[in-house]
Amino acid sequence: METKYIFVTGGVVSSLGKGIISSSLACLLKARGYRVTIQKFDPYINIDPGTLNPYEHGECYVTVDGHEADLDLGHYERFTNVRTTRANNVTTGRIYQSVINKERHGDYLGRTVQIVPHITDEIKRCVKALGHTGEYDYIITEIGGVVGDIESLPFLEAVRQLRWDLGQDSLCIHLTYVPYIAAAKELKTKPTQHSVKQLQELGIQPDVLVLRTEHPVTEEVRRKIALFCNVAPDAVIQSQDVPSIYEVPLTMHAQHLDEIVLRKTGITPEGEPHMAPWMNFVEKMRGASEVVTIGLVGKYVELQDAYKSINEALFHAATYADHKLEIKYIHSEKLDESNAGALLGDLDGVIIAPGFGQRGVEGKFVALKWAREHDIPTFGICLGMQCMVIEFARDVLGLADANSTEMNPATAHNVIDLMEEQKGIADMGGTMRLGAYDCALRPGSLAAGAYGKELVSERHRHRFEFNEAYRGRFEEAGMQCVGENPRTHLVEVVEIPGKRWYLGTQYHPEYSSTVLEPNPLFISFVNAAIAYKESKK
Ligand code: GLN
Repeated sequence: METKYIFVTGGVVSSLGKGIISSSLACLLKARGYRVTIQKFDPYINIDPGTLNPYEHGECYVTVDGHEADLDLGHYERFTNVRTTRANNVTTGRIYQSVINKERHGDYLGRTVQIVPHITDEIKRCVKALGHTGEYDYIITEIGGVVGDIESLPFLEAVRQLRWDLGQDSLCIHLTYVPYIAAAKELKTKPTQHSVKQLQELGIQPDVLVLRTEHPVTEEVRRKIALFCNVAPDAVIQSQDVPSIYEVPLTMHAQHLDEIVLRKTGITPEGEPHMAPWMNFVEKMRGASEVVTIGLVGKYVELQDAYKSINEALFHAATYADHKLEIKYIHSEKLDESNAGALLGDLDGVIIAPGFGQRGVEGKFVALKWAREHDIPTFGICLGMQCMVIEFARDVLGLADANSTEMNPATAHNVIDLMEEQKGIADMGGTMRLGAYDCALRPGSLAAGAYGKELVSERHRHRFEFNEAYRGRFEEAGMQCVGENPRTHLVEVVEIPGKRWYLGTQYHPEYSSTVLEPNPLFISFVNAAIAYKESKK
């Protein structure tokens, strides 16, 4: 079949859950046997979110091919089990960079370079790039931002042109917000009407409207919106708040979103999507009553999205273990010897978060020492693993000033040091060790047992590494380097055998955890936390 393009836009306000609706639709189409991918176009000027701090943009997600991406790509992978790449996330900055490079190269043959057609052509080229691989039946393109933003205009103009070119092979889904005015006890449709008008002024007629609402949309409201917006009443779909994002594919299917999309793109829907594995997960999620409590020690704990993939990977693991997940966020800057027992004492397991820079690091050492001495299941990720190494060096090896050269370039014991290949790098963007690398695991180790194999591939985002010169001393004292890159021998996993579960990874296993394929290390860690909880009873 011809590749079909679905555009997802948003109006009225941001944070309507375009990423979740796109992911849910992709999940349903995939469950019907179609080959689907999702891409996101972000209207900001940064080349990618890699240089944005978490206060600006939440977590930075990393793809297997080493692209620092918008966190929505994490949802896309978790809902579809389809790996994304650099081609799945494009920003205004990248579009302009590529047009300006072409201009400098002389590709425009002396013509004036303009937003239309040059920028819009480049956007169209990027939209279609995944389609040209021949690997997908449906390509869902989420346009970041809100209709009416100055930044979004070139993207929407490109969508208008593409819809004209593609005809029935394309479709536009527009998300809006339907506010409830408590004093009037009424849902209000006017913001939706205005937002659709704005889209129509740009030459785009939406085919499907998804209304985000806190209260059920009545038949009357649905008909009114359909009438004012030139959309069929059955294509006005409500997205009412649900307890978990993983319920959304089911609520969308109950309103036939997948069938509507198929029909409108010229395909007759047959049968039902194969959602049994997804339902199994959702039923476990709904049925869980016992709680497992995991502490997350980091410096961005007040931000909802800063540790998104870790939260979700923990949630997948807890759900498969038939437990409800409770995450206790512990601010690493507020943790010290005087309150460690009070903050960590009730936990069933503790995660030491990734991060950059000195701020909050001392609190991570305190948490690690407490967790190690009290034998609580402990999982260090990236900077968390580096802190495990430093804390062990200080407390067990007796190297009092052991540190990472990231925190103290003058330390006498640089147990964590800048990678050789990083030494000449000056540019900050896209220059870390990024993406998936192989890791060979020692037979019989906790890590190899968890994965059930001895060669894995996981994603990275770091500049510093375990200093090979200290390896022997760590191993003699009980911290084993059980995972390493088979080519460079860079240490990727450390653990302390004999502890309940004490393991750190230089890589980020959370990025690869999906609903249908939860990450084995998170499964193993959460199971250890549950066993520890049981042992305390
Ligand atoms: N700051 C550390 C490094 O660059 C760890 C990075 C991380 O936790 N993602 O190596």
